[in-house]
Amino acid sequence: MQLSSAHTIMISRKIRRQDQGIIMELPFTLPDHVADLTVDLKPTWSPPYVVDFGVADPSRIRGWSGGARYNCHISRFQATHGYLPGPLNKGIWSILLGLYRLPPESFDIEVTITWRQFCPQWVKGDLHVHTLHSDGSWTVDETLDRVAKAGLDFVALTDHNTSSQNLSAHKPSSLIIVPGMEWTTYHGHANIFGVPDPLPDWRVANNDDFDEKLASVRAQGSYVSINHPFDTSQPGISWEWGLDRKTWVEIWNGPWRPSNQAAVDWWQTQLCKGRHLVAISGSDTHGPSTLVHHGQPTTWVWVPTPDTGSILSAINDGHVFITQDSYGPELSMHCGPYIVGDTVTESKNSTVEIQVQKVLPQDRIRLISQRGVEMEAMIDDSTWQLRYSIADQMFIRVEIHRYRQDWEFWLPILISNPIYFTQETGDES
Ligand SMILES: [Zn+2]
Repeated sequence: MQLSSAHTIMISRKIRRQDQGIIMELPFTLPDHVADLTVDLKPTWSPPYVVDFGVADPSRIRGWSGGARYNCHISRFQATHGYLPGPLNKGIWSILLGLYRLPPESFDIEVTITWRQFCPQWVKGDLHVHTLHSDGSWTVDETLDRVAKAGLDFVALTDHNTSSQNLSAHKPSSLIIVPGMEWTTYHGHANIFGVPDPLPDWRVANNDDFDEKLASVRAQGSYVSINHPFDTSQPGISWEWGLDRKTWVEIWNGPWRPSNQAAVDWWQTQLCKGRHLVAISGSDTHGPSTLVHHGQPTTWVWVPTPDTGSILSAINDGHVFITQDSYGPELSMHCGPYIVGDTVTESKNSTVEIQVQKVLPQDRIRLISQRGVEMEAMIDDSTWQLRYSIADQMFIRVEIHRYRQDWEFWLPILISNPIYFTQETGDES
C-alpha cells in the first residue's frame, strides 16, 4: 500500500498535583484516510508516582496501557497489546492521561503523535474465488494465504449459494476481504458483493421472483455482477435472467477463451448503445489446477483509501481495468481530471493521455470507440505513451494483446473500462 510521508504533532501540558485523580484528555484532530497512528509519551516523573496512559478515538476508548507502557501503534490490521486495530476514522481523538499518583511539584509532559495517510492508488484483486464452503478445495485461511502470495490486495469469497465463508473467522491477513456469494441458479450465475449474508433464500422460481430478490440484495447495499455470461461449457451457467444498468459484467472469467471474447463483444455492443456497464474480472479459482489460478485475471481499482467500501464504490464508478495477472501491465489513462469510468463533459477537442508500463516489445495496443478500433500500434519498449485527441467519440477504451507463439493466437493482457464523452449532440445514456 502506498502511504504518505509521516505527519507529526506534539502536545505539551503542565501537570499539577491538584489534578490528581482525574483522567485528563489531550485532544487532537486526525484527518481522513489515516493508515496508521503512533503515540509516544516520554515519562518525566519517577516512581512511586504513576501516570496512566491510553488513547480514545471519536467514538470510544481505543486502548489503555495504564502505567505499563507509554507508547502505542494502531493500524487497521494490528495494534499494540491493549489497543484495538481497525479503521482510523477522522475526527477528534484524545490522549488519555490517568493522573493516579502525582508528585507535589508540577511537571511538564510532552506527547508525540505521528500518522501516515493512504495515497489514492490502484489496488488489485480477485473478485471470484471459491473455498471449502462450496466446491473449492481450500479453507478460507488457506485461500487467503494463496491470494496474498499471488500479489493481490483484495479478494471476494464467492462460494455458491452460501454465506458461511463470510461468517467464518479469518486469521489476521493483510488482504482486504470483500464479502461475496455466487448466486447460482439453473439459468445463470451472479456474484453479490459487500454484504456478509445477502440472500437467505437464493432459490428463484421465475423472472418476477428474480427481480424481487435482486431488488432485496440491492436494498441491503450489495453490488451485483453477472458471471461468465456466455459460458456454455456446462448447462445453465450462461446468463438468461434480465439485466439492469447497475449490474457489473464479468467479461473475463479465468483463462482467456471464446466465451470471454463473446462477453467482450456483447459488452462493446452495450457501450455503443450508450449503456455504461462496468466490466470486471474474476479467476473463478476452485483448487489446484494447471490453468486456473488466483489473480488470473486481476481486477485493478482506483481507490482513495484501500478498504472494502471504497473498492466497491470505485468499481461501481467504473474506475477499473483488468490484466492477465497481478504483475500487469499497468495503465494510466486520463482526460484532464477524468479517469476510466468517468464521463467527460464538453469533450470536443479534449485530449486523452495514455501511459502503459510493464509491457513487452511486440505487444499490440488498441484504442476502441463506438466505431471499433480507432488506433492500433505495436509497442516497442517496456513503456508506451500517447496523447489522443477526441473528436466525436462516445467512449475510448484500451486493449493490449500479446502474441502467444505456442498457441499462435493474440491473447488479451489488458482490457480497460472506457472514459466516456458527452458531445454537444447529446448521446449520453
Ligand atoms: Zn459460476
